[in-house]
Amino acid sequence: MFKIIDGKKISTEIKDELKAEVEALKAKGIIPSLAVILVGDDPASAVYVRNKKKACEYCGIRSLSYELPASTSEEELLDLIEKLNSDDDVNGILVQLPLPGHINEKKVTDAIIPSKDVDGFHPQNVGALLIGSRGFVSCTPAGIIELLKRSGVDISGKECVVVGRSNIVGKPMGVLLLRENGTVTIAHSRTKDLKEVCKRADILIAAIGKPKFFDAEYVKDGAVVIDVGMDRDENGKLCGDVDFESVKEKASMLTPVPGGVGPMTIAMLMNNVVESVRSLS
Ligand code: NAP
Repeated sequence: MFKIIDGKKISTEIKDELKAEVEALKAKGIIPSLAVILVGDDPASAVYVRNKKKACEYCGIRSLSYELPASTSEEELLDLIEKLNSDDDVNGILVQLPLPGHINEKKVTDAIIPSKDVDGFHPQNVGALLIGSRGFVSCTPAGIIELLKRSGVDISGKECVVVGRSNIVGKPMGVLLLRENGTVTIAHSRTKDLKEVCKRADILIAAIGKPKFFDAEYVKDGAVVIDVGMDRDENGKLCGDVDFESVKEKASMLTPVPGGVGPMTIAMLMNNVVESVRSLS
């Protein structure tokens, strides 16, 4: 029987759990706080930042907002990060990407102290993930693991195919599935016979950024399909990498876009902010 994985509902469950935890922390005098930095006026980034601030409010997390003009220099941004790194009242620092072209994104994300890197992009956190030690995990792949677990999907021993090998989605996704004892293949633009590779998957993660690329021909009967894509179709409407109407005829479970992975990314960001103060309580 086919089931839609409701990311909105599951993300609300997680945020409700965090809200209760934050209340308990506040009773001990600990107020988790997130500094959110937005540079420039990219409308999509402004929406993401607004949603993150709304989620903070929902969970009782204090959010500090830094909205800087597009003309901000790299040095000014690095100075702000340095200030936030040493501010004991700030537990997490998030710089909304992409940054304007004159700013080196890697230099900026590397400048965030690993203990406040709630996006999990710092090389120290990425390395910790790889060797299985404590650290912040990139929110989108962490959210997908939570979606699978809370939907009753057992990852252990399953054939997992991740399509896409970016540093923020594909690669950490592969490592997390491996950590859950999945048998993992990471496919990409040079993969030969992509359809055949995808059809091996019990769990297929689509993360390539191509609207409705994956149709039923890429999917094994009964597979669980997770659509990470946030794309625009020919009419400018938000859609995923998966052709929902086609794939729902074959998959046993499928995430919609919107309402699948997107809300989970924000919920896991909130979890990382709370995680940054858990050791203090
Ligand atoms: P990215 O950095 O552009 O990486 C895309 C990956 O897909 C690359 O590894 C690329 O392979 C691979 N690829 C591209 N075309 C392919 C093809 N035809 N066949 C096989 N592989 C192909 O993208 P990203 O940042 O990982 O994001 C992927 C999608 O997820 C985007 O739609 C993005 O908007 C979305 N996203 C959503 C969330 C969320 O919260 N829902 C979060 C992050 C990203 P090569 O490495 O060989 O070039």
